[in-house]
Amino acid sequence: MARDPQGVSVVAEGVHRLHRAGVNCYLLTSPDGITLVDAGLPGMWRLLEDALSLVGARPSDIDAVILTHGHFDHVGFSERLRHDHAVPAHIHAADAALVRHPYRYDHESPRWPYPFRHPGGLPYLAAMTAAGALFVKGTRAELDVAPDRPLDVPGHPVPIWSPGHTHGHCGFHLPDRGILFTGDALVTLDPYTGRTGPRVVARAATADAATALLSLDRLADTEALLALPGHGRPYEGDLRRAVRLALHAGVA
Ligand SMILES: [Zn+2]
Repeated sequence: MARDPQGVSVVAEGVHRLHRAGVNCYLLTSPDGITLVDAGLPGMWRLLEDALSLVGARPSDIDAVILTHGHFDHVGFSERLRHDHAVPAHIHAADAALVRHPYRYDHESPRWPYPFRHPGGLPYLAAMTAAGALFVKGTRAELDVAPDRPLDVPGHPVPIWSPGHTHGHCGFHLPDRGILFTGDALVTLDPYTGRTGPRVVARAATADAATALLSLDRLADTEALLALPGHGRPYEGDLRRAVRLALHAGVA
């Protein structure tokens, strides 16, 4: 059996996790085509090519990019896919401005004290920078991601409304498979602090922490058994427990 390239792993049948610098995106291969869930960072392009080659595909074979939200470390190479390979991106309308300007985001706390207060986050922030985090281009996306309405893309994920981290954040649920892409609504690594385990991302990158904590229940309501976050390792098991842990951890 071929060994998975570094930074690419199979996390469920037909789901490849691409990970670098604490950032994840996911290639979802279905009988009806290929969907990319989030688009990482520009420096993860090679991982995308590696993952595609494992399924015998090329970038232009991707049918759609669906974005959990419009932050730079999720918009990543979506403009490259759109411009060079005619792959459309989709996002919730409340993140319309953000996806065009992925650095102009609301956040509850100033970013600058975090590296001093939480030195555990420094390696991740440095690695993200090395992966092109400062050079993400905004993109044009279709604003047709609507809560609970299955998307007309391969795999037909169902958007799960989970605002707070950004104003238009949605998770993506595969109900038949018990898989939930949680984006940054529920992560297992906070790149701003380096802390691991189920949690909400630090206020340095979260628009409204109180709303983000309220959104956790909506994720748990899916009763998914595998949560695939925007940062950190997959979480397998009872999502209610993950939510309890996240509430207990609080927001840095
Ligand atoms: Zn984010």
